[in-house]
Amino acid sequence: MRSAPAWRLAAGAQAASAGAWHILDMRRGTTLLLALVAAALLQSAAAVTVRASTRPPKNIKRPPQLILFSHDDAVDSAAYGYVTDVTDRHRNPNGCRIKATWFGCTSDCDFSCSTAKKLYGKGHELAAHTVNHPDLRHMSYSKVKKEIVGSRDKIVSCGIPESRVVGFRTPFLSDSPTVRQVLADYGFRYDSTIGVAGGSNRLWPATMEDGVPYDCDQAGQYCESDESYPGLWEVPLYELPDGNLMDVCTDESSGDPQSGCSPYKQLKKDFDRAYGSNRGPVTVGVHSITTGFLKNDKFRGEVNKFFQYALQHKDVWVVTISQFLDWMEAPVEADKMAAFMAKYKC
Ligand SMILES: [Zn+2]
Repeated sequence: MRSAPAWRLAAGAQAASAGAWHILDMRRGTTLLLALVAAALLQSAAAVTVRASTRPPKNIKRPPQLILFSHDDAVDSAAYGYVTDVTDRHRNPNGCRIKATWFGCTSDCDFSCSTAKKLYGKGHELAAHTVNHPDLRHMSYSKVKKEIVGSRDKIVSCGIPESRVVGFRTPFLSDSPTVRQVLADYGFRYDSTIGVAGGSNRLWPATMEDGVPYDCDQAGQYCESDESYPGLWEVPLYELPDGNLMDVCTDESSGDPQSGCSPYKQLKKDFDRAYGSNRGPVTVGVHSITTGFLKNDKFRGEVNKFFQYALQHKDVWVVTISQFLDWMEAPVEADKMAAFMAKYKC
């Protein structure tokens, strides 16, 4: 159930071609294929194109430092309690409480529609994370589609508009071209799975018209040279100083806390490097139930200490991933952020 460790585990034998599976499946339905091609053409005509770069988008001179706080797996009252014990304690410079992006697995994890609606009502973002939390790498296009679109459908069935459920993260952070093809075919706006180096002058998120624009030579991540998804964003998870992508200071195989590792110090170090250089986004990814990260009082306290530190800076904002992409597509300077954020639920 952990998402963090898999990106460092040996990838093992990859399937001959995950991309080939979806083509085979698509041949079974000419109508579906035509519909998807039409949708893809429409999408590419209007697609935003942003290349991976260490420079902020559109020559912004003084970008705000944006922090993306995300939570994977459970969407239930227990997870709500742990996550909002962080988000409700901190405010952005406009006085609004910070929000998280929730990647909800909708059957195998504890998922509650009432919790999802409550979070949505507070301005948090709900995103898909499959139905059954499988390793998607060796599954057919149709099975991957059922897992991804099925989890979105479940969230939508709770009463959250489909137009607001636009993101996805793979279980175990193990993805494939088939996963990205499904996301593109079914109108998702972004994936947030790929691990990218953190530190100073990190690469900014980018669209994938030329495939995945980051080093894909990581275990658990699988890319091909001919991938193309116009307008589909990849919002990476940035590697923290301790080497983790999520659940900082935990052991990647057991999930146990690493002795002597301080989540506060790790997150602060990562933040300071981003803030002091090109201000590429900082990602704080956690679980609450499956790894027990936020359930751990000490760790939750240190994450709170980190947000308290980061938000002392007047040009630092914690935003949902959709808000972040709105900013990427129409960026504003740090001193215009209050006006930019005015359209979102406070
Ligand atoms: Zn997960």
